[in-house]
Amino acid sequence: MKGRPDSSPFVRLFGRFLREQGLPVTHQREAVAEVVFGSGEHLSVDEIERVLRSDGQHIGKATIYRALDLLVRSKLVAELDFGEGFKRYEHRLSADPIHEHLICLNCNAVTEFQSDEVHRIEAMVSARHGFRPTRHKLEIYGLCQECTVAGVEVTPEGLTCPIETV
Ligand SMILES: [Zn+2]
Ligand SMILES: [Zn+2]
Repeated sequence: MKGRPDSSPFVRLFGRFLREQGLPVTHQREAVAEVVFGSGEHLSVDEIERVLRSDGQHIGKATIYRALDLLVRSKLVAELDFGEGFKRYEHRLSADPIHEHLICLNCNAVTEFQSDEVHRIEAMVSARHGFRPTRHKLEIYGLCQECTVAGVEVTPEGLTCPIETV
């Protein structure tokens, strides 16, 4: 667990986005934004609901989904799909804005890493194709160290790229 960064400047930015869109800045929308901006994790809707509830806030799933949709549209939050059957949400302007993900297929642990090599590959491949890159996304699926040490095995199917199997 990382520390909880100060979420208030980002909640204010989100409020500004809502007003620019002519949308009401509701307490519920701000509460969902606060949870996402206050976390360094990749949160599912269930997890966001749990954090809100432990704060004594009972906000329905539909309202949370709608708030997340607006957060993604504001470009302050990234929507991630790690092939778990549901989406996760991450603060895009966190301490490490550009990072890649290692995703454990057994315990769903997500590890972040940064790599100069990946940036070099992005530049090299883009140049080769006359392409002007703005961003990239790399997700590596497999078994985390803890699961490997615990002797977990995954079937070869479980280790194939979900893009190829869908
Ligand atoms: Zn694991
Ligand atoms: Zn991340």
